[in-house]
Amino acid sequence: MSTTFHIEEEINLKSWDDIINRPCYKSSIKPKKFNFTHISASYSFKDESARCGVSDCLKDHSRGFLVNTSDENETNLCENCGNRFFNVSFEKQKKILQNINTIRKQKIQLNKILEQNIIRDQVNELKQASQGANWLYHVLTSFCDTYPTELLTALKELATKTDENTALSELIENECDQSQRDNIGQLQGLNIFALDIREELIGKILKPLIELKKLADNPDEISSLTRYCKWADNLDEQFVIVEKLIKEGQLFFTTWNLEKLKSIPLPKASARLVKSVSWNINKAAKKV
Ligand SMILES: [Zn+2]
Repeated sequence: MSTTFHIEEEINLKSWDDIINRPCYKSSIKPKKFNFTHISASYSFKDESARCGVSDCLKDHSRGFLVNTSDENETNLCENCGNRFFNVSFEKQKKILQNINTIRKQKIQLNKILEQNIIRDQVNELKQASQGANWLYHVLTSFCDTYPTELLTALKELATKTDENTALSELIENECDQSQRDNIGQLQGLNIFALDIREELIGKILKPLIELKKLADNPDEISSLTRYCKWADNLDEQFVIVEKLIKEGQLFFTTWNLEKLKSIPLPKASARLVKSVSWNINKAAKKV
């Protein structure tokens, strides 16, 4: 079973009855600092219907705090007594409690993902599929190890630069014939040179999940959950990016497409290499 974040009770106090009807509520607690351990909620009523739970105060008031006591009961403190025993103002404490509530909601959102456990399955499926992410990674690595850097740079440029005025686009315009230009225009799957499949799948989907599980196992007060919530909100979209990228890889590594690479203008030595290289997609894929 996977670990999830512990979710604290959400306390909403709308009236004085909400306070005194709590099962562990006690009043007239002796005014000793060690009797009060923790502020769990604040309240703000329209009228002075609340009565302070400290025996030497008992003041009627409209806003204050619900607190835990050292004998594991609860009582309430007026603003003055809150200040006396916890040294906090109402507004400051309200902000702290609002923060805690935000974190609580984030934990609920993230627990849904931690409970499901389907992300790792989805990642594994994408990795292990025939012509899936593992295939793409290995074939692309082998391709990059074999072909000249100038070609790889040109492919990256074709994939990322929409601006027409690059050195490459000038070369294509001035030194290529029409059939070469057509071939370059028809190249498919270039996005695999713009996005890194490992970063998109492992870096952006799996790694944050592993970190989140660690954090749920050992929660601390410092780590912000906001980036994990953004990650969770973005998961569906990120999976779509990965699926598209794998499809791009399948389109790029076809004989038809690879043949067209010979049309890209390169320095002579590199162009010769591209034409003569005996890189074989099936051999590269076998190493997967
Ligand atoms: Zn008081």
